[in-house]
Amino acid sequence: MSPGEHDARPDVATVASLLREPGLPPPESRILLSHVLGWPRTQLITRDREPLAPETLAVYRALHARRVAGEPIAYLTGSREFFGLTLTVSPSVLIPRPETELLVELALARLEGRRAPRVLDLGTGSGAIALAIAHSRPDAQVTALDRSPDALDVARENARQLGLADRVTFLASDWYAALPANEAPFDIIVSNPPYIVSGDAHLSQGDLRFEPIDALTDHSDGLAALRAIVAGAPSRLLPNGWLLCEHGYHQAAEVRALCLATGFADVASDRDLAGIERTTGGRRV
Ligand code: GLN
Repeated sequence: MSPGEHDARPDVATVASLLREPGLPPPESRILLSHVLGWPRTQLITRDREPLAPETLAVYRALHARRVAGEPIAYLTGSREFFGLTLTVSPSVLIPRPETELLVELALARLEGRRAPRVLDLGTGSGAIALAIAHSRPDAQVTALDRSPDALDVARENARQLGLADRVTFLASDWYAALPANEAPFDIIVSNPPYIVSGDAHLSQGDLRFEPIDALTDHSDGLAALRAIVAGAPSRLLPNGWLLCEHGYHQAAEVRALCLATGFADVASDRDLAGIERTTGGRRV
């Protein structure tokens, strides 16, 4: 057999032959191949006729089958990009969403002009929001809470990998419960809490089936976590400090009402790239 022909041998798997197999869209197969082989995307092109080792092939086939069964790509590769940072993720944490980058941008805008701001992130999960803010504001001190010890392990590991561990303090806490009473007040409180209504059909579809249920729903009307977060915020904020929460596509008016009833000023919602009111916040007077 001459070089170049081995691609046609049915018994030898190559990147090219695997990408021709049915089952997954080629971009997803490429992500898995790049992960399994440890090759950057360019090498998937330049080395696409190289015979693959049987062990490598077996690992790829196993991940491929799990993806076909619906597992999110981020759990299969163990990482996800968020706000330009590579975060480790596991099934203990919600996979960071692109729309949550809006919350980070809005928080950073509200911190402009404040020196050495103190930031509180409630329900930090992978640490995405806390770490993105800490990375963008090298003078910020961030406290990040989560009720789940497994999520905090992931968040701490991310802080370490990103070299941010000295400026982000992690705490196991059910919202504000474990925050010391004498903790200095914050410039901003941010949160992407569980806000999906109990029993919502989305919980049993797509990626959400594999994500931690407690990070997605409050097992109630979708506003239970948001109520607790808004109610506890004024006593933890500096005067003129901000509260900023992500919420569901249909919840903006209700969260604005909660903020107004709690005495916040400048209460407003912002739209994500899809045009959906995705965050709501206000200023403590
Ligand atoms: N944005 C997520 C989704 O709808 C939900 C995240 C959350 O509940 N905080 O897929």
